[in-house]
Amino acid sequence: MKIGIIGSGISVVGFVKNLKGNHDVQIFDKAFKLGGRLTMHRIDQFKLNLGAQYINPQSDEFKEVILDAGCYPLNGSVIDAQSKEVVDASNFFIHEDGMDTIVKKYLKDFDVHQNRKVTGIDSDKGKLTFEDGDSEFFDLIISSVPNQQLEKLCDFNVSNENIYSKCIALGASIKDKNLFKFNCYKNFSKTISWLALSSSYCNQSPLTLTAHLTPESSKKLFDHSNDQIEKIAIDDIVKTMNIKNNETIEPLKIFKWRYALCQRNNQGDGFIKLNKLIAIGDWTLGPRVESAYESGKKAAMALNI
Ligand SMILES: Cc1cc2nc3c(=O)[nH]c(=O)nc-3n(C[C@H](O)[C@H](O)[C@H](O)COP(=O)(O)OP(=O)(O)OC[C@H]3O[C@@H](n4cnc5c(N)ncnc54)[C@H](O)[C@@H]3O)c2cc1C
Repeated sequence: MKIGIIGSGISVVGFVKNLKGNHDVQIFDKAFKLGGRLTMHRIDQFKLNLGAQYINPQSDEFKEVILDAGCYPLNGSVIDAQSKEVVDASNFFIHEDGMDTIVKKYLKDFDVHQNRKVTGIDSDKGKLTFEDGDSEFFDLIISSVPNQQLEKLCDFNVSNENIYSKCIALGASIKDKNLFKFNCYKNFSKTISWLALSSSYCNQSPLTLTAHLTPESSKKLFDHSNDQIEKIAIDDIVKTMNIKNNETIEPLKIFKWRYALCQRNNQGDGFIKLNKLIAIGDWTLGPRVESAYESGKKAAMALNI
């Protein structure tokens, strides 16, 4: 079969890793990098993990997939800043070079076209149209893009629910590593839901932090300028941690995830078929890396029969 895949996130890994038989598979991603929401950003010598923070595998099979790709347990401790309780992070896994390393490992033998945006899908004919106007026909199309984006590409409608919440992520460098007692803070403040130091996944590169704004703050501030968001987030960190000199935290990047976390959490089929199109992705099962992988796997298993 000639298969055209849209996206290069972990759900696509679940699909290609479990698909049997010899197929002509081509993968297209609009981004310059592989990994989707697992992508690590690098600025000079700094590493910024602005998307998924850790993987908490529930199945032995998925645990093996991530361990084989070089993941290992999160360094240090996680505190719930609201309840003041230490979170059991014994099953939290990370990768020092970013969790997109998992995707790079499993997609390395495939024909991946980066910076190749799909702008239209004809699910009856199996046709993909690209940003430059080119088009190509396939026996099967796999889409791993969030459903709200998919609805813009073709006649696809799951429901009117607004499944995804937004998330604004701040990446910053820190001069003084002693400012934070813990490596990761859950429920950090009313504005920030998660704050993590890069020492939780890598001790080699210079220290950075990632702060995820809460879904409510992210929605409210989404159209604000990056400068305004940086100021609000850093002021919040400085105030919450009682830091005397706010110059110790230097903003490096704001990343706005329009489709961050899907609110759906169900035990559906993991994929939806519409003629020659199969839609996969975390939104079919739940807002986690493993659910996205499972979605792709379920679609492949259905084709293997
Ligand atoms: C801020 C944040 C924090 C998170 N934290 C965690 C966590 O700690 N633990 C956890 O388990 N999960 C976490 N998640 C969720 C997890 O990252 C996702 O569930 C998972 O990565 C989704 O994988 P996917 O393959 O379904 O989608 P994606 O990774 O989003 O892949 C979709 C791909 O499609 C591409 N694409 C989109 N449109 C087009 C187009 N028109 N043409 C071509 N390509 C296109 C995109 O570039 C992308 O590469 C987090 C997510 C975010 C955003």
